Amino acid sequence: MITEFTMYSGLHTIGGVIFSLTYEKERLLFEFGTSYDPACDIYDRYVEVRKKNRIRDAIKIGATPRIDGIYSKKDCDGMELLSAEESDLHTTVFVSHLHLDHMSCIGMLDKSVDVYMNPSAQCLLRALEETGEGIGYQFENVHDFEAEKPIQIGAFTITPILAKSSSFKDFSFLIKTPDGTIHYTGDLILHHLESENTWHEMELVKQAKPDILLCDATAFMDSVLSLMIPDCDPKKIKASKEIPTPMISEKEMHQQMHDTLSQQKGLCVFNFYQREMLLADWFIKHSEQLGRICAFEPDTAYMVYKFFHIKPNVYIPDSFRYTENHEKPWFKELLQNSQIITLEMIIKDPSHYLIQNSYRHILELFSLPDTDATYLHAEGTPIGKFDPAYDNLHKILKKTNFNYTTFFCSTYFGHGYPCMVKYFVDEIDPPILIPCHSYNPERLLPNNGIQFLPELNQTYLFKNGKLIKK
Ligand SMILES: [Zn+2]
Repeated sequence: MITEFTMYSGLHTIGGVIFSLTYEKERLLFEFGTSYDPACDIYDRYVEVRKKNRIRDAIKIGATPRIDGIYSKKDCDGMELLSAEESDLHTTVFVSHLHLDHMSCIGMLDKSVDVYMNPSAQCLLRALEETGEGIGYQFENVHDFEAEKPIQIGAFTITPILAKSSSFKDFSFLIKTPDGTIHYTGDLILHHLESENTWHEMELVKQAKPDILLCDATAFMDSVLSLMIPDCDPKKIKASKEIPTPMISEKEMHQQMHDTLSQQKGLCVFNFYQREMLLADWFIKHSEQLGRICAFEPDTAYMVYKFFHIKPNVYIPDSFRYTENHEKPWFKELLQNSQIITLEMIIKDPSHYLIQNSYRHILELFSLPDTDATYLHAEGTPIGKFDPAYDNLHKILKKTNFNYTTFFCSTYFGHGYPCMVKYFVDEIDPPILIPCHSYNPERLLPNNGIQFLPELNQTYLFKNGKLIKK
């Protein structure tokens, strides 16, 4: 018996990392999402999702991976794919955190496939499913895990290591197989508020002496790397623990946000990724310090209520979405456990409010008072120019007097800066380095080991510390 390794996706894309380790009859899958690429989304605003064929269609268009033994027979019949019922492998999926590119497809899995997700992520996913913002996940096969509590599955031992303890929590995974040790970083961030966790991860992994390191290399792409190294020459990336100029830490970013908000004379609205409860918490805190009232749209307010057990302020945009939701249990529960902020209240005193405005409700800006008003773009969709909706956002903003401002870019804040990632990798010094989750994985160079970019869907035997094509 020998451990087999297969990478299915996520090598040359931002997100969507999926790889498997198989030993005897047990298979582990790490992550189960798809990369974020709105420009290539087959479901544009015209094409509709089919009902009976939802999963077959998703496999066909590559929105979920083509892997034997994980979909139920009724969902993959006629696809030359072995169904879960027909497979003799038992599969377990590990989710590092609640970003869609790491878990968006778990609702498509057959019930026999076990899913490991930490309790904070489960709490937020349940709230998302209740408000209709989820991924159609039923929670029938979900299991908890905790930081540094090893999980035994067949011959594998999986140790989740905590990177971020706030919001939905972020983890990496250290995996021991009878043939060696593998570490997968998940999203790797080294300049965040809890960076000591990630340096602790580095020390733990260093001691474990992994044979293979799969490492997030998002920030090695042109648009980010060129800010630090104009010609993007990977040999010029010098390993360092320090934040490189002109980049800033998450702490500095929050300070800038606070300073900017404190200078505003009118209404402030913000557009953020509603799963990021840490940011929701920051907006509440900034508001309290600046004498503003922070109000969320109902869907987000429900998550804030469920996650922090507080009574949030709610601003209900003029939308069919909420008249239709009025009878839903989650909406009723929210109304009983929140304070409503009305448009009239905001118009009377705009400088005392900080209001969430997601892109789907952007026309709300036509009603909100816009004298001296600010629109803070804080990682909400559309995130950047690569999304066709980004131009539309600015087109609409131009029809108002809202001033656009941002300190965010997910690629800057959500992923480690190249010199710091290089430091992390050099300290661990793995014999085999697989950079992934990146447009330019080839730019993350190892010190002593080899850089290995596996062929997708090709199975490798993990033998004597090497990966050999099967
Ligand atoms: Zn990611």
